[in-house]
Amino acid sequence: MTRVWLPRRRSARRAWARTVACCPTCQVTPGVPCHRNGIALPDGAVHARRYQEAEETAA
Ligand SMILES: [Zn+2]
Repeated sequence: MTRVWLPRRRSARRAWARTVACCPTCQVTPGVPCHRNGIALPDGAVHARRYQEAEETAA
């Protein structure tokens, strides 16, 4: 049982994805927070698809 989630790292990853990638799910451009029905996701969360987009951008 070594699955430890470090909030600081997770939020850094969110911030990174938000900064470098657009989101295919909610159609926002880099730097714009993800939203659902016009309401920003809580806690600076981003859609899962956006991480993939960010990784492709960084590759
Ligand atoms: Zn999104």
